[in-house]
Amino acid sequence: MHAAIPRPPDRPSDRPLDRRLDRSLARVRRRLGGWLDHLAPRACGLCGTALAPSAFPGFCTGCLQDLPGARRARCARCGQPTDTPAPACTACAADDPSPVDATLAAADYAPPLDRVVTALKFGRQLALARPLGELLAARWAGALRVEPLDCLVPVPLAPGRLAQRGFNQSLEMARAMSASLAPAFATLPVLPRRLARLRDTPPQAGLGLSERRTNLLGCFECSGRLDGLRIGLIDDVMTSGSTVAEAARALKAAGAERVVALVAARAA
Ligand SMILES: [Zn+2]
Ligand SMILES: [Zn+2]
Repeated sequence: MHAAIPRPPDRPSDRPLDRRLDRSLARVRRRLGGWLDHLAPRACGLCGTALAPSAFPGFCTGCLQDLPGARRARCARCGQPTDTPAPACTACAADDPSPVDATLAAADYAPPLDRVVTALKFGRQLALARPLGELLAARWAGALRVEPLDCLVPVPLAPGRLAQRGFNQSLEMARAMSASLAPAFATLPVLPRRLARLRDTPPQAGLGLSERRTNLLGCFECSGRLDGLRIGLIDDVMTSGSTVAEAARALKAAGAERVVALVAARAA
């Protein structure tokens, strides 16, 4: 096991009441999760094979072994596949310092994992947030050098998109990641309200990198200070990295010391 994760004297939280509420909800979720596992056994998030109640993460051994790109070498900064593990790929080395200090990608955005992400997001299969969040937890805790984190912040949706979808998949994954780490690790609180997305951006597909960046400029805003915090920024899919970078920029502007992107699927 890893050593306890050092944390700053002030536990990060949105508000004291939220903190108490989040703790209570996490307790209820854990207990309810245990009961539900007995009533309806867990199934692999990919193939539906029954899993032991204590299985972690929520995929069967065969599917875990077949996760696309789960074991490949990646650039430590942006998560793009590389020939050998590297602190920075050619693109990152040539780029201005990115506000994202490191990226941990659980797998590639490729079949069959892309199906799970799509089913969660567009098929409203909310139960799939749990195996994906657990996958992130396993990726983080299983890293050769564990990134110390103080809290998790999900990449937010703009209010219109959130109202349309009814939930933020990244928040649900962050909650699942946090719940699966407690209590073996010091609890990693989720801060769902610190980072806001002010507006929706036009679809990014088909745009160049600089157009993607311009598209996103100033679309995230942080409330309150995050001084000295090491933040795990949670997202389901990372494509060009522009969204995560812009969110990280807002977190850094609010005082965050380090931002580590944790993504379930990395698209090339
Ligand atoms: Zn499976
Ligand atoms: Zn890179």
